[in-house]
Amino acid sequence: MPRHVEAQVVVIGGGPAGMAAALSSFENGAEPVFLLERGKYLGGILNQCIHPGFGLHYFGEELTGPEYAEQFIERLKKTRVEVFLDTTVLEITKDRVVRAVNPAGVWEFRAENVVLSMGCRERTRGMLRIPGHRPAGIFTAGLAQYLVNIEGYLPGKEIVILGSGDIGLIMARRLTLEGACVKAVVEIKDSLSGLLRNYVQCLLDFDIPLLLSHTVTNILGKDRVEGVVVNKVNTHGQIIPEGEQFIGCDTLLLSVGLIPENDLSKKAGIPLCPFTGGPFVDEYFACDLEGFFACGNVAAVFDLVDYVTMVSTMVGGKIGSPSLDRKPPRHMLVPASGVSQVIPQRIREGKEGFLFIRSQHAFRDAVLSLSLEGREFQAMRIPLCYPSEMVKVNLQDIQWPSEKGEVQISIRGKRIHGVG
Ligand SMILES: Cc1cc2nc3c(=O)[nH]c(=O)nc-3n(C[C@H](O)[C@H](O)[C@H](O)COP(=O)(O)OP(=O)(O)OC[C@H]3O[C@@H](n4cnc5c(N)ncnc54)[C@H](O)[C@@H]3O)c2cc1C
Repeated sequence: MPRHVEAQVVVIGGGPAGMAAALSSFENGAEPVFLLERGKYLGGILNQCIHPGFGLHYFGEELTGPEYAEQFIERLKKTRVEVFLDTTVLEITKDRVVRAVNPAGVWEFRAENVVLSMGCRERTRGMLRIPGHRPAGIFTAGLAQYLVNIEGYLPGKEIVILGSGDIGLIMARRLTLEGACVKAVVEIKDSLSGLLRNYVQCLLDFDIPLLLSHTVTNILGKDRVEGVVVNKVNTHGQIIPEGEQFIGCDTLLLSVGLIPENDLSKKAGIPLCPFTGGPFVDEYFACDLEGFFACGNVAAVFDLVDYVTMVSTMVGGKIGSPSLDRKPPRHMLVPASGVSQVIPQRIREGKEGFLFIRSQHAFRDAVLSLSLEGREFQAMRIPLCYPSEMVKVNLQDIQWPSEKGEVQISIRGKRIHGVG
């Protein structure tokens, strides 16, 4: 028989998003608050990110991932937030019953509010459909990071990395420092996917080649990876057969994107946005289904943990607030030309909070444009923007029109090719 627990707030996932939301809801008067984490420690993905680069915006200093997490773990210890570790949520229902399991048994929480903060997962080889056998030696970059930084294993000695996302760039440096030889980072697009500073600090500083407009077209080796075939691609992403090259390696790392972890949300019937992969949210990160909030990478893949913390702290403060009226939102936001993602997608008041936008390409001298039914009502200059870095705008800086309707968000400017 499950144990039944009544809760004002149940937070699912104890990464930076869940910790900040639990802390802030408790500090704003909610009780009891339960924080459920399937791992043995709080901190989420931060525990394996031992490189510096976290917290510059939020704490004004550069911390490692575990140092950043520690700040919140210590603050949580001083509250009555009930932290359940080793506790996996198996199911949530639309009327906010959260079913979880841990070594003590099965639990059923009846929650007034549920905060989704389950983070994201990595895209795998199966999603890329690269031909070849299924040899040992193919890892996602995040798994390789876990093996090196937490378990102390080196996944291979001669490495090729597919995808120039931040995790791949960071792992190129990490594996080099551990004595492996990173032969190349191969990127299908004609521009870098990760942050420019990671390209400089992780590839340039270690003489690791970056092959833009290239992709892996075959994986060779039966028991263990023996090498990969790499081809150039044209501007439409089609493979050019000429100039094919073989790169000998024993390991292929995949750094080809992250997907918000929403299997639980989907089963609960929470509407998901096709552009972010997370639930549709309003400016308070409330989902379309009443009593549910989504924050952090479960809502959309954020580039900086600082933004995750800011948003999740706001969510905690808004739980139970009267400004969360359930009237239909005034505006629905949708990405248009040059934009791949917009968070939030619903605006109720537009007075507080932020608009996060991810561009489709790298642009310089760009203009961020907001239009209602085809009429531009706001244009903002952005000197530079990259798909890897979200553009953040204060909602109160936008003059929202009084008419209701769909707002298209676009970016126009000069395209940057190469690494910028
Ligand atoms: C390799 C890498 C490098 C990064 N580098 C930087 C950097 O330099 N600077 C920076 O600012 N940001 C960086 N980031 C981004 C930052 O780490 C993320 O934005 C942040 O960790 C997202 O927090 P989150 O709480 O949403 O997700 P996570 O940290 O992923 O936490 C989600 C938690 O939910 C738990 N969970 C999931 N499902 C369940 C379930 N069913 N039941 C119970 N628990 C569950 C998971 O175990 C996990 O602990 C990096 C990220 C990665 C992956």
